[in-house]
This record gives sequence, structure tokens and C-alpha cells, in this order.
Amino acid sequence: MDDLDGHPLYSCNRCRNPIALRFNLLSKDFKARSGQAYMFSEAMNVVLGGKREQQLITGRYVVADVSCSKCGEVLGWKYLKSLDDSQRYKIGRFIIEKAKVLKEYS
Ligand SMILES: [Zn+2]
Repeated sequence: MDDLDGHPLYSCNRCRNPIALRFNLLSKDFKARSGQAYMFSEAMNVVLGGKREQQLITGRYVVADVSCSKCGEVLGWKYLKSLDDSQRYKIGRFIIEKAKVLKEYS
């Protein structure tokens, strides 16, 4: 993973497992139950939980919980399906709660 050198990344607040690259950060404007959340185009070292439907402010979605592959902490969720056409761009994106990750420089 030489290409990660010098690029900021976000790691699990609990065990420092690398979760997502700054490069893949799409938005800092998301709200989760705990507060601010980030939207990433990709995440790594995460495990997806079971699918469930979730009613959010912007509509109804099918999502899966995203957990750290090392310590099992739930970090956020991934959008699998939207029932509203205007929100389709979120499909496949990861929402990670700001409070659950640390920004680091490799
Ligand atoms: Zn962890």
C-alpha cells in the first residue's frame, strides 16, 4: 500500500484500524444520531451488517450497518437502496460518524 504514503486517512477511534482515505471523502455535511457524519465513496477494513430499512430525514432507504473489521465498533452505515429517485446518488456510499474516527497522516 505504498500509494497511501503522505495521504490523510480516517481510522477507527477505538483500535486505529484504517477505515477510509481523505481522497474518498465526498461530504462532511451529513447528520447521524451522534452528530456530524462524513460521506465516503469507499471504505476499507469494514464489515457490513444485515440489510435493514431506515427512515431518514431525506427519505426511506435500505442500509447496512458498517462496523470496524478489527474491533467490531459500529461506525456508520452504507446505502444499499433508495426508494426515492432524487437520492439515488447515495447508493453504494458510506456514512461514517465523525465521532467514531480519527484523522491521521500516514
Ligand atoms: Zn476498530
